[in-house]
Amino acid sequence: MAGGLGAMRLVDDSRVSLADLNHQVLFRERDLGKAKATMAERRLKEINPFVTVESHVKILSENNVFRLAASCDVLIDASNNAGVGSLLNLVAARQQIPLVHAWVWEMTGLLTTFWPSRGPCQACADLETPSNHRPALLGPLPGIMGALQALEVLRILGGLGPALLGRVLTFKGTQFTFTEKIIRVNPLCPVCAV
Ligand SMILES: [Zn+2]
Repeated sequence: MAGGLGAMRLVDDSRVSLADLNHQVLFRERDLGKAKATMAERRLKEINPFVTVESHVKILSENNVFRLAASCDVLIDASNNAGVGSLLNLVAARQQIPLVHAWVWEMTGLLTTFWPSRGPCQACADLETPSNHRPALLGPLPGIMGALQALEVLRILGGLGPALLGRVLTFKGTQFTFTEKIIRVNPLCPVCAV
């Protein structure tokens, strides 16, 4: 928002908890128990009153994901939730729009961009993310990956194009290293192969 996005639609059904306060910048102690999407909309409008922010306190599902993603130019997955990732990937494949995907766990962060029709989709790739919920151990890690994710989104919206299409960037906080691996389109992909 501070970077100049015109409009953003936020979807999150969860509420602000104590565990959220050490790794994000939008929520305050007084927000505890309130819907994250609603509070995020309020804070983002305070930061930049000239943008459109729309919040939906909803669980993303097959029944609503296409409606909620309608008219979006870019999808952003910061959910750390494989089910949500799969739903957004379906939309990206159907609408042939980019999906900028970040995931953090323990001391590791992962970032890549899927763009069916131009590169691999999430179902083409084997991302090696944990199957159960393992939260980031230190607060700055989600901030690091979130800032990189925002940079990638602004690159795409600004016409520079994605830096991470077909590349998975992994940050290891234990060694302070960035590594990357190449991922390719799977011609037999059940989601994006035509
Ligand atoms: Zn695919």
